[in-house]
Amino acid sequence: MIKIDHSIAKFNKFLLKWYNKNKRNLPFREKKDPYSIWISEIMLQQTRVNAMLASYSKFIFRFPDIESLANADEEEVLRHWKGLGYYSRAINLLKGAKYISENHSNSFPKSLEEALKIPGVGQYTARAVLSISYDVPIAVLDGNVKRVLSRVLEFKENIDLNLSHKKLQEYADNFLNQEDPSNHNQAMMELGAMICLPNPTCAICPVQSFCKSFSNNTQLSIPLTGKEKKKIEIELIFRFFESEDKKVLLIKEKSRRFFKKVYSPPFQIQPKSNKNEFTGSLDSFLETIEIKNKQGGFKHSITNHSIKVYYAINKWDNKLENNIYGMERKWVKWEDLGEEFPSSLSKKILKFRSRLE
Ligand code: SF4
Repeated sequence: MIKIDHSIAKFNKFLLKWYNKNKRNLPFREKKDPYSIWISEIMLQQTRVNAMLASYSKFIFRFPDIESLANADEEEVLRHWKGLGYYSRAINLLKGAKYISENHSNSFPKSLEEALKIPGVGQYTARAVLSISYDVPIAVLDGNVKRVLSRVLEFKENIDLNLSHKKLQEYADNFLNQEDPSNHNQAMMELGAMICLPNPTCAICPVQSFCKSFSNNTQLSIPLTGKEKKKIEIELIFRFFESEDKKVLLIKEKSRRFFKKVYSPPFQIQPKSNKNEFTGSLDSFLETIEIKNKQGGFKHSITNHSIKVYYAINKWDNKLENNIYGMERKWVKWEDLGEEFPSSLSKKILKFRSRLE
């Protein structure tokens, strides 16, 4: 646990003073109405403030309260979500409004436990709505608050990990101004949105004197981010089809998992995903051609795939032509493979093959 060795009360005093003087004039801040705050928080999840303001006003004009939203039909709600994207948010809002209407007589519930039962409402939204509108003393932790806290405390762990999120939530709870949770939470978010940006303007920051990253000049390298991606282990088998004049078939196919934009030999992936790699009948065709003499076993990685690469060569029979009908393809000489299939794998295959010959 990082020791917070400065006065939190003093930090909060500076923060609040700055917020009261500098906060943006936003329509959902005009009154402490849980419905408006809920709508704005959901819209802001994937959209910047300036881009959502016009849609927000139109939405609130048509659906001014929970009851009017709960009684609306989905098509109309979606029409009023136009321009905001991620339409599942609008569908969840409608479900949420119906839920509140049926279970809480059109009033947003006041406890965290009850708020979390509303469809589409997670920890962040519940905490934001309850603290901002009802002054419930719970701290919010969105991306902006995470950035501010990580820098102030010089938190050197990857903030995208679940464990870091838990720790930062504890720090946010410790920092919470119990006497004014509404303004405190908004001030923390506003500081992250206006001053402590990815490229922060520390010179005008109200909490600069409390910031460990500023003192140690580490603010540009903090927070550390990056989702831990699990490697997907697969086998990829290139199927070389050789014509009578010793040329091999390359195809180009946008829908496949790898090499979408370049020509490559057709390939199969094990384990097979639900989705076919190729359009048309090429996948099923490849399965019918026996793999004789599989070679290679090179290790390779593409994005989050850890791949063992093999290749196999079969003779092409012109009767097979209809299996590649309509596909972008070309026949190339073996020696041109490196150029025609621009991947380090083509070189590895050529080198391996020359050793066998
Ligand atoms: Fe962020 Fe700089 Fe303020 Fe620290 S001093 S909280 S890094 S803006």
